[in-house]
Amino acid sequence: MNAPASRPPIAPPLWLLAELTYRCPLHCAFCYNPVDYAQQRAELSTGEWIDVMRQARQLGTAQLGFSGGEPLLRDDLEELIGEGRRLGFYTNLITSGIGLTEPRIARMKERGLDHIQLSFQDSTREMNDFLSSTKTFDLKAKVARLIKRHDYPMVLNVVLHRFNLDHVDRIIDMALEMGVEYLELANTQYYGWGLVNRAQLMPTRKQLLWAEAVVNEYRARIGNRIRILFVVPDYFEERPKACMNGWGSVFFAVAPDGTALPCHAARSLPGIAFPNVTEHRLGEIWYGSGAFNRYRGDAWMKAPCSGCPERHKDFGGCRCQAYALTGDAENADPVCARSPRHGDVQAVVLQAQRMQAQGVQPIVFRSDANSRRLAAVEK
Ligand code: SF4
Ligand code: SF4
Repeated sequence: MNAPASRPPIAPPLWLLAELTYRCPLHCAFCYNPVDYAQQRAELSTGEWIDVMRQARQLGTAQLGFSGGEPLLRDDLEELIGEGRRLGFYTNLITSGIGLTEPRIARMKERGLDHIQLSFQDSTREMNDFLSSTKTFDLKAKVARLIKRHDYPMVLNVVLHRFNLDHVDRIIDMALEMGVEYLELANTQYYGWGLVNRAQLMPTRKQLLWAEAVVNEYRARIGNRIRILFVVPDYFEERPKACMNGWGSVFFAVAPDGTALPCHAARSLPGIAFPNVTEHRLGEIWYGSGAFNRYRGDAWMKAPCSGCPERHKDFGGCRCQAYALTGDAENADPVCARSPRHGDVQAVVLQAQRMQAQGVQPIVFRSDANSRRLAAVEK
């Protein structure tokens, strides 16, 4: 018999992710921004962002991340950081590093920025520059030194896939040389541009097992010198991730145009009217909106999740992934071996490997032209 469905009390959001802009000088093949970003040019003003931050603090939000696109493209970033800090947030800048100059980092330090997460695409100049379709490796290396010089704890993020998984040892060596404190090795999540390029980016199980063994070997050898997080790609798992720790549970993202989202990929779900912070108060959105309540608790779940003893552990997995892979966001995330659609995930992996062997499909880099072309195809 199924356990009765439940809806726990709604706790305040802990995390606000301010996606300040979708503009970015890079063209990453795995970019998590929406594929149609080129049609979404509207951005909140400085005053509107400050108002969002104030409301979030009143709700009890403690962490504030500035991301994008590339948040450094906003000239008011330092002002927003200063205001965030003044309001009492722990502030975090998530950046490709492009545009982080000595005067800017000095101003950010002065305004109280707590933390910087820098992304690299690879340990080699060739692969870094290929994957971002820019010549940015040397610039990023310079920015890494700048971050250390300004005494920031260094968090390095490298998205992994079949083109760089075999370099994991060199990526860790690079992190050690840079004096990184925390290394996030996150295998590609197949949303946004990652989904467009899924067949090209999909690694083999052999690559993953090797990389994981290397990571464990380094962990044993270097101890606490660097904390290494290795996130395995969902498609190779038997259980899904507890996406966002549950829909509308701790995380609140605001897109550049003010659209409020329970996760940055949520706009890919059809039939949900996501509210905008220019029209509604944050508290109203968080506690009362149909969009944020849609997948809270377990009342929305269908079998097998509805009767599963693990449903409060993984919340049925990721709604965006369930939709992308099964066409129904209320299905169990098919990464789960209990899902009747689990075989589809394995088929995607095999299909990707067949396509790679045939070498037929080029990478589609994130660019305005590709964004417009893909958006037109989707219509
Ligand atoms: S993933 Fe790459 S292209 Fe996308 S926002 Fe980040 S740096 Fe820019
Ligand atoms: S059936 Fe649903 S709740 Fe159970 S483990 Fe799988 S995804 Fe999670």
